[in-house]
Amino acid sequence: MLGLMMNQPMMISALLRHAELNHGDTEIVSRLAVGGTHRYTYAAAAVRSRQLARALIALGAKAEDRIGTLAWNSHRHFEIYYAVSGIAAITHTINPRLFPEQITYIANHADDRFIFFDLTFTKLIEALVPHCPGVKGWVALCQRSEMPECSIPNLHCYEDLVAAQSDDFEWPEFDENTASSLCYTSGTTGNPKGVLYSHRSTVLHAYGAALPDALGASARDCILPVVPMFHVNAWGLPYSGALTGAKLVMPGPHLDGASLYTLFEEEGVTMSAGVPTIWLGLLQYLQANELRLSTVKRLVIGGSAAPPAMIRAFDEQYGITVLHAWGMTEMSPLGTVNTYKHKHLALPAEERDRIRLKQGRGIFGVELKIVDGDGIELPRDGKAFGDLMVRGPWITSGYFKSEGGDPLRDGWFPTGDVATIDPDGYMQITDRSKDVIKSGGEWISSIDLENIAVAHPAVAEAAVIGAAHPKWDERPLLVVIKKPGQDVDRDELIAFYEGKVAKWWIPDDVVFVDDLPHTATGKLSKLQLRQRLQDYRFPGA
Ligand code: AMP
Repeated sequence: MLGLMMNQPMMISALLRHAELNHGDTEIVSRLAVGGTHRYTYAAAAVRSRQLARALIALGAKAEDRIGTLAWNSHRHFEIYYAVSGIAAITHTINPRLFPEQITYIANHADDRFIFFDLTFTKLIEALVPHCPGVKGWVALCQRSEMPECSIPNLHCYEDLVAAQSDDFEWPEFDENTASSLCYTSGTTGNPKGVLYSHRSTVLHAYGAALPDALGASARDCILPVVPMFHVNAWGLPYSGALTGAKLVMPGPHLDGASLYTLFEEEGVTMSAGVPTIWLGLLQYLQANELRLSTVKRLVIGGSAAPPAMIRAFDEQYGITVLHAWGMTEMSPLGTVNTYKHKHLALPAEERDRIRLKQGRGIFGVELKIVDGDGIELPRDGKAFGDLMVRGPWITSGYFKSEGGDPLRDGWFPTGDVATIDPDGYMQITDRSKDVIKSGGEWISSIDLENIAVAHPAVAEAAVIGAAHPKWDERPLLVVIKKPGQDVDRDELIAFYEGKVAKWWIPDDVVFVDDLPHTATGKLSKLQLRQRLQDYRFPGA
């Protein structure tokens, strides 16, 4: 017997309609790429999104068309998210930090019909135009007076397009499984692969992300997504924001400590989200200038392991709760978030410390398991580590245009991460499977070793890679950037590991560098680092 409840499809446009009706005067504030601040409300955003939907249709955009964006976080990008998906077309966010050849590959692979871009990227677009014959029009995200002098053909002005339309438009209702947005993985090896989200997966993820034990978003929040809208839909915050009616602050291109600090204070930001390198910048700025954040309560740190020293510094020195989160482009992205359980609240600080360093518990909608090399499930004892597998309604079942074949194994998505899961459901990443250090047939977690190094007062950033060793196959090599004005030598750093890990885990050597390579999504690129250090040999080995 079927239930008798309404079978109303989950539509992304419904999130915006909800915000318009219930949080119409709540603000969306944007720092513009051209300078200055833009300020309006959910009600105004809803009106302009309907105008934009009509403009897209007038341009000839149809259902299933991919509409590319090369843009920072802003109110206009927010409008594109809703207008494009709202007419059953597909928002294709392109990461401008990729190499131009990768951007060309992605735009062509996606068959982008139109590309919307911030003026920061005008030169990049000019270089792209001859290689993207399928793009019918380019839209500059600016007003008429700001239109760039350039050679881009079929160039439109965003504000003109919007202003030419009325907002007399009803969002169509269609199958909730319809594709809504497309985001390519950063593709550290091989070509980037497209992850195609649906209206259903996006709305379910927006619900899941807003839960109290996930990001805990509410109408009392002012959320600043530092994580770019071109990286997994800014972790879904433009959707969870509308779902909860949180005030949104879009930071534009300037994500350094000073710019973020000013914006946090001016707008009364309560919650923000980004990768560890961003928070490192903010922390250093706060410490160097003896400043405090007066309204921020929660910082979501994900995308790479949040170093324990950073979690402690925000908590103990600034009274800010760090939500350590883990996810992937293929997971919309949220998989786990670290929050305590009721039974943990009375525990001594050191025991709670051990819990909060993990990547957290799977939120409902994400099932996790770890398996060995034969695919046999390993115990949830917090000790066994194996390949982490996931499944759920906002996890990909395959890549766009079937690139790479069927990624699933028995209905589970292999994350490529290696992890433990404890009896309380807390997952801890020990490595990317390709970064794990294989020493004498045993595995050493590079993340654990990096976390210890960054707890040293003279270390700004650290990476540990497995370097070739004639006897052990690989041994850990610590690569360190020192903090300005601080000094530390190899022996002191090696000694710093004593008593913190098993003896055979301690790095064999230390290399000091001025910079570390990062990927287009701000993660440490171990691949590039291994390439840089391919000629390295351990002393005496
Ligand atoms: P991306 O699809 O670019 O977001 O990359 C996803 C990958 O980033 C995951 O598979 C992890 O290897 C890594 N990652 C994300 N969040 C974390 C975290 N909190 N701790 C450790 N690794 C993380």
